[in-house]
Amino acid sequence: MQQTSGIHHITAMVNDAQRNIDFYAGVLGLRLVKKTINFDRPQSYHLYFGNEAGEPGTVITFFPWPKQLKGRIGMGQVGVTAYSIPTGSLEFWKKRLSKFGIDFKTHKRFGESYLAFQDPDILELELMERSNGPVNNWSFQGIEAEHAIKGFAGATLLSAQPNKTAEVLENVLGLTCIGDEDGYLRFKSEATLGNIIDIKLTPSVRGLMGAGTVHHIAWRAKDEKDLLKWSELLKNKGYYPTEIRDRNYFKAVYFHEDGGILFEIATDPPGFAVDEPQSELGTKLMLPSWLEEKREELEETLPPVEVRVLEGE
Ligand code: ZN
Repeated sequence: MQQTSGIHHITAMVNDAQRNIDFYAGVLGLRLVKKTINFDRPQSYHLYFGNEAGEPGTVITFFPWPKQLKGRIGMGQVGVTAYSIPTGSLEFWKKRLSKFGIDFKTHKRFGESYLAFQDPDILELELMERSNGPVNNWSFQGIEAEHAIKGFAGATLLSAQPNKTAEVLENVLGLTCIGDEDGYLRFKSEATLGNIIDIKLTPSVRGLMGAGTVHHIAWRAKDEKDLLKWSELLKNKGYYPTEIRDRNYFKAVYFHEDGGILFEIATDPPGFAVDEPQSELGTKLMLPSWLEEKREELEETLPPVEVRVLEGE
């Protein structure tokens, strides 16, 4: 049976590129692993943040677009993105979030305590201690491997049809249902990061796409051959996957599951070191070959952005 090992990446929409970098790199200490443009709208950035190497299961990507209207988090979307931090680092993160004036709440789900907070575009985030998964050796402003965000813990899906979404996770993506508690159904995949998916069973408001919402969640395929198998499987199961698209750092197909959430299946290779050395990831504006001739024009239109150390309060 086809099985995804877990989340490949999560992509969301925001309004401001610098504010986005300040939060995910400056506050959360993730590495900006790729600064490129939205291939479908080259006048705007596409920013990728992840662990040191930008490995699958650690990468959140953003389309910053100032004119984008605010969306509303709700059914048909990924409602919450959860990050995995090393065991014993929750206190460190409480202090760090406080230092930057970020309000957080401590909650418990499936016996785990975690911090819940929002990014500047009101995307919902969680930080939870997980013992599994490799540490992240990207250090930034005093965030070292013992505290650094390792990658995704998982995500919470807000489905318009939770039973149908559960069916996709189990019977198409090959995840295992491991629990049902307080209105959440929990699934697990074999990877050590990005491997715990919760479906919220109680209804939410209807989601509206826009700034401050997740656009899609991508699941891992081993390689292009595996991706072709996924595409066939999806068609056999009655879904309508797109043709295979070349995203430069991976190849991908997209489909809507019956609960309204946009799913993508993306290949692990080639990864982010395909067009710049790993030591320089995210430092230059990278363009796909077919847009290289427009570089000058694009660099003039895009606002300059940078990873910077923030002082906090
Ligand atoms: Zn994607």
